[in-house]
Amino acid sequence: MGVPLSQMWTVAKYVLTQRAKGIKRYPLVLMLEPLFRCNLACAGCGKIQFPSHILKQHLSPEQCFQAVDECGAPIVSIPGGEPLLHPQMPEIVAGLVARKKFIYLCTNAILLEKHLENYPPSKYLTFSIHLDGIRVDHDAAVCRDGIYDKAISAIKAAVKAGHRVTTNSTLFENAEPERVRQMFDELAELGIESMMLSPGYQYEKAPDQEHFLKRNQTIQKFRKILATPKKAWKFNHSPLFLEFLKGNWELECTPWGNPTYNIFGWQKPCYLLEEGYADSFSELMNSTSWERYGRKSGNEKCRDCMVHCGHEPTAVDQTFSSWKGFLKVVSMTIFGAKDSNRPLPVQSPESIPEPLYTPADHELIQLGTVNDTECDEDAEVLNLSN
Ligand code: SF4
Ligand code: SF4
Repeated sequence: MGVPLSQMWTVAKYVLTQRAKGIKRYPLVLMLEPLFRCNLACAGCGKIQFPSHILKQHLSPEQCFQAVDECGAPIVSIPGGEPLLHPQMPEIVAGLVARKKFIYLCTNAILLEKHLENYPPSKYLTFSIHLDGIRVDHDAAVCRDGIYDKAISAIKAAVKAGHRVTTNSTLFENAEPERVRQMFDELAELGIESMMLSPGYQYEKAPDQEHFLKRNQTIQKFRKILATPKKAWKFNHSPLFLEFLKGNWELECTPWGNPTYNIFGWQKPCYLLEEGYADSFSELMNSTSWERYGRKSGNEKCRDCMVHCGHEPTAVDQTFSSWKGFLKVVSMTIFGAKDSNRPLPVQSPESIPEPLYTPADHELIQLGTVNDTECDEDAEVLNLSN
């Protein structure tokens, strides 16, 4: 199991409460971006291309707490930028632990060993380490040699200190399935709790525009990566989301499930797109034209998106829509999904295979070598390796 029972129970209780209250749109994970500056400049990153006066800014602990209280989501993910560059990050984490929020602090791990003593182990705190492949692939993806070794060393130190540790991997067109599977094997031996996966989103600002996956390419890639998964591989995902990545299950995006707060305010409509900002969470929920987003909307920017932050909340909502749905997911977790290794049709990148599961199933659940990566050597990065 990729997540402790206490966290699963908290999330289940929260979702069932929202549903019992008749709340149709509710947040599940707050994406709290306290700063945009980073000590790396990855080729596929769409978060660090701000001018230096923006990169120098960060949210205060009080702003973070107000956003967390206003939103009410049981899980807070802290991406960036690099959160460990924030001078008050220990204070922010302590405040969220006191609020009993389950925190995923996403870090490239360069500073983790140095700062580890500032973070007492807690069931509420998980370090989510950015790792996009085995050594050669990860170092190429982050455009700097030696970062994979640093990340592995930091993972071992954090696990030894008693922390919850997961990894998060963003995969692009040049990810070699066999090598991704090799990474899973390597990570399984380190004692981490689980792994998170996502196809990369085609950020307009990312320096490397060549290696983003079209939807059908994502499906083909993930079918190979996740074929006959080993028992030792633990994923921090709903089984429905993993089946979605393999093209076997339909999930429509619920962008309000992962609202994003940063120095500009509440970002519309999601973590990936910047189409304006709201001053408050309720303004975000009430003033965003949600129908303009998701694949069915026909929005070009959503057409190929299968990113976890838009679709995992949908999977969770479907899981808790009925007892039958819940039991279906439990059965998929214990016994595995239906055979998803059926032959892949040869298709253009735009066409999508028919989902393996039937509408009746849905009713139940209302559930590489990266040598040619273009690293942006000129990206504006503040190297604040404090
Ligand atoms: S580690 Fe890479 S992907 Fe993450 S914020 Fe920094 S530059 Fe972007
Ligand atoms: S489909 Fe992707 S880009 Fe579109 S709203 Fe959802 S998360 Fe954002």
